[in-house]
Amino acid sequence: MTAWFLSLILFICLIATNYLWRQKYHLLSSLDKKKDESKRPSRLVKDLGMADMFANMPDGILVTNSKRKIDFANPAFCKMFELNEDPSGKTIMEAIRIHQAHELVQRLEKESSVTNEEFILPNFNQSFLQVNGVAMRESNGKHQGTILVFHDLTRIKTLENHRQEFVANVSHELRTPLSIITGYVETLLDSETDKESNNHRFLKKIENHSNRLTYLIEDILTLSRLESGGITLKEDHVSIFNLTESIFESLKEMAEKKGVCLENKVEKEAYMLADQQRLFQAINNLIENGIKYGGKCVCVSTEINAGKLEICVEDDGPGIPSESSERIFERFYRIDKARSREVGGTGLGLSIVKHITQLHQGTARVESSLGNGSRFYLSFPIE
Ligand code: ADP
Repeated sequence: MTAWFLSLILFICLIATNYLWRQKYHLLSSLDKKKDESKRPSRLVKDLGMADMFANMPDGILVTNSKRKIDFANPAFCKMFELNEDPSGKTIMEAIRIHQAHELVQRLEKESSVTNEEFILPNFNQSFLQVNGVAMRESNGKHQGTILVFHDLTRIKTLENHRQEFVANVSHELRTPLSIITGYVETLLDSETDKESNNHRFLKKIENHSNRLTYLIEDILTLSRLESGGITLKEDHVSIFNLTESIFESLKEMAEKKGVCLENKVEKEAYMLADQQRLFQAINNLIENGIKYGGKCVCVSTEINAGKLEICVEDDGPGIPSESSERIFERFYRIDKARSREVGGTGLGLSIVKHITQLHQGTARVESSLGNGSRFYLSFPIE
């Protein structure tokens, strides 16, 4: 009886031990599984077979989840950011400490995609990255995470910088001999009294062409400085009315020669934070074009609305065909090459206008049609 009772107790003890071990084993294995999962690509990444697909891609790929934690980063991404270990499970700030990338992930919680964002990484030999991102959402719109693609533009940017430097250096080197030629031609012209002589005619031609070359070199230098992005604006509160008055003053002689009237309809209270010298150049180029390309009157006006200041330079000249309106701000784009050369144009004036406007966070556009004059608008955000 006692033996029977003892074996029953032993049997119950065995069952209890087995149950307890099973429980413990289950807990341990689930903890192990969780630890592994945080290191491995998420189900989504695995399901789509992305890990294999992205492993050999030259672009950096980063997948984050709804908790803004990294789910997956391909080898190219780790190389770009000099990461020695897999950043999965970390936040972007913990992994790469780039605020712009963190902000991009935040933006993608509201927006569906972000394209052509440029990052400059000062710690990584001034690497230039172009980043495109898309948000992943469930069918009910719930945010699931983001996919970011990092494209390394460093080589292209370096080549672009070399090209810009080369153009700037050549233009700079050409400046001195050109000013010497112009100086000698002026002296020879002064001493040539017979205005009908061949000498006078030839010297006049040399003078015209060296002047054109000088304008061209000055415009190329200005443009390469603007394009290099290395310009710091000397910002001040600028009165657009006064600025227009001073431009009219400098172009008075040219306008009188052409019989073009200049009208200042700018609102007196139109002020903006700008680099006065650069803004002068942009508006000057537009007014000069208005005088050069015909018309009887060039009028400057402003409109302030919805947090924007819009400066309009209008003329009643020949106008611009609609197919050229899109391309008119491109370098060396001219509607009529011969006419542009005849009036001393370089083909760079509007390109300079566009760059100066963009430096002030503004946009430039034209409204025109053939035979109906042109209206050039520069639109700037104001406080
Ligand atoms: P350019 O030095 O040749 O004037 P721009 O870049 O200033 O170069 O202008 C580009 C071209 O746009 C000009 O060659 C001209 O054909 C056209 N254009 C610019 N402004 C006007 C205007 N107000 N009316 C008609 N055509 C214009």
